[in-house]
Amino acid sequence: MDDLPFRELIDAAPDGLIVCEASGRIVLVNAEGARMFGYERDELIGRTIDLLVPRRVRPYHAKHMASFTAAPRLRPMGSGLDLHGARKDGTEFPVEISLSPIETERGLLITAGIRDISERRVLEGEKRRATAYLTSAVDSVSDAFALFDEHDRVVMVNSTARELLGSDLGHAIVGMRFDDLLRSAVESGAFDFSSESKDALLRRWFAYHQNPIGMLDVRTGTGRYLRVTARKTAEHGTVSTIADVTDDVQREADLRQARAAAEAASAAKSEFLSSMSHELRTPLNAVLGFAQLLERDRRNPLDARQIERVQHVLRGGEHLLRLIDDVLDLAKIESGHVSVSIEQVSLEDVLREVLTTLEPMATRAQIQMELAPLPDGPIVVTADRTRLAQVLMNFGSNAIKYGRKDGFLRFDVKPVGTRVRISTIDNGLGIPDAKRDRIFEPFQRAGQETGPIEGTGIGLAISKRLAELMHGRVGFSTEEGRGSTFWIEVPLHEVPADEPLPGRQRSGPLSPLTEGESARFKVVYVEDNPSNIAFMRDVMDELSSVELITAPTAEIGLELIRAHRPTVVIMDINLPGMSGVDAVRILKAGPETRSIPVLGLSAAALPSDGKRAVDAGFHRYLTKPVKVTELTAALEELLVPQS
Ligand code: ADP
Repeated sequence: MDDLPFRELIDAAPDGLIVCEASGRIVLVNAEGARMFGYERDELIGRTIDLLVPRRVRPYHAKHMASFTAAPRLRPMGSGLDLHGARKDGTEFPVEISLSPIETERGLLITAGIRDISERRVLEGEKRRATAYLTSAVDSVSDAFALFDEHDRVVMVNSTARELLGSDLGHAIVGMRFDDLLRSAVESGAFDFSSESKDALLRRWFAYHQNPIGMLDVRTGTGRYLRVTARKTAEHGTVSTIADVTDDVQREADLRQARAAAEAASAAKSEFLSSMSHELRTPLNAVLGFAQLLERDRRNPLDARQIERVQHVLRGGEHLLRLIDDVLDLAKIESGHVSVSIEQVSLEDVLREVLTTLEPMATRAQIQMELAPLPDGPIVVTADRTRLAQVLMNFGSNAIKYGRKDGFLRFDVKPVGTRVRISTIDNGLGIPDAKRDRIFEPFQRAGQETGPIEGTGIGLAISKRLAELMHGRVGFSTEEGRGSTFWIEVPLHEVPADEPLPGRQRSGPLSPLTEGESARFKVVYVEDNPSNIAFMRDVMDELSSVELITAPTAEIGLELIRAHRPTVVIMDINLPGMSGVDAVRILKAGPETRSIPVLGLSAAALPSDGKRAVDAGFHRYLTKPVKVTELTAALEELLVPQS
């Protein structure tokens, strides 16, 4: 057969080519045909084709040959038969075979085109395995999962999705269009329609599926919450997952409810504190106010014994006031209702203020108080001025209270890295070892519970929390019988050379109130409490240049203010009928009364009250019990004669 034409062409064919006679005798083999069976071409010519068929299938092969030669016809490749070839070394390999009969003068010849498909089989196996992995992975996901192709037909779903959407479908889901699938799921009653119609749900879902941004929440007919998430794939298909978020929704609802309850409780507590503070401060206002007036009454001066008694009243009242303030302060801090206003503060100013305030107390206790030489240059810290002073006042007053007669209290300032440490050093009683651990906790008095020194055990707890609110910290060292050092550290503010220093507190103006009889100022005081009115009258009596006009309600007050055009109005806030805040709003809206400054005066002592008042248009807001000096200072500021 070497004389066959196109010999080279046949050899170049990528498939194996073997030609045999009807008897099975091989007459031609191309290069690939010999190679794939592991023979030299010559070894095959003249042998029967049976040689290339695995031994186990030779009996069937003979039958196939017989039936083919009886009715020879073209049989293409890939007929679906699972065929194998046998190599020279006995190994088998999968093949695809096409057969075509050729009638020649030598009789029937059969041409077999043979393709080694081992590699394809390996690839097919790998693909099958990968698909199986993917399917079982998708199936084991607890969320429902569905993949749609670019024509929006289902390519893959897991069993959760099947259960959710197609349990009643009774037919295969794969291949279904998304809209048919969703419609049949909706029709089967899988979802809840109590808050929207079927059509509305379908519209919502279709719109989301087309343009999946964010998530889609739906409820099932059994009251569960589902969260649908869809994303477009790179192949223009869509992946959709549906998670059952009922537990999360329930938890969120519980949390919301708990938060609302906590907020309500906290609001109730704030409200309680505010009104309690008001209730306690109003009578205390009268007690302290009148005691102060008695003590300084110039017309009917008290004798020494009476002054001593009045001073007892004052001390007791002040102690009670401090107690109320401390308990309120702590409660506010603990409930997160205290906000500090951090600013740049000149430390020297704060220290001088603290020392001035503590001076009388130190003198009484015969304690030498001093400020150690400050480091060079101005020291500016970032802190809440009032709160920093409060902490230092607390440390200082403790050092005096728990100090010894003829002892000392020294304020010391040292930079520590990016902070400044301000210490109060005393040589007082010190604190016993066993009592130190809980000293910054509320109501801990470290062994002083039964002693003669007054205290509540709240001051240090407040100081610690305030320091933390100002991004600082507190600490102490102590030795029983020898003394203690308490310190607070607050952030240091580096002052650039050209930055102006935070202003010192303005010293008060010269009093116009005591400058003779010529200037008469009208002051309208709106207050319903008779003892407060009597107190104010007494205060004003001392100021000869003031004429006091009082009104028991805001309504009457407004009339009097319009009629008299006073220089200053003093307004209580909680009044019967119209509140002081509303009255101020009316005054600020009237062109004739707009410019009259109004001093707010109330027993309510929460910061929010003060802010509310200033927002409403009060010039200033003083808290009862009012210190006589504070009130007269505020009036002096406002009653400067108009030039
Ligand atoms: P209070 O002074 O009202 O009892 P504090 O919270 O200010 O409450 O202080 C708690 C306790 O710490 C005090 O009762 C006292 O025993 C102790 N203490 C505080 N400062 C000093 C000090 N400088 N020297 C000795 N003991 C002190």
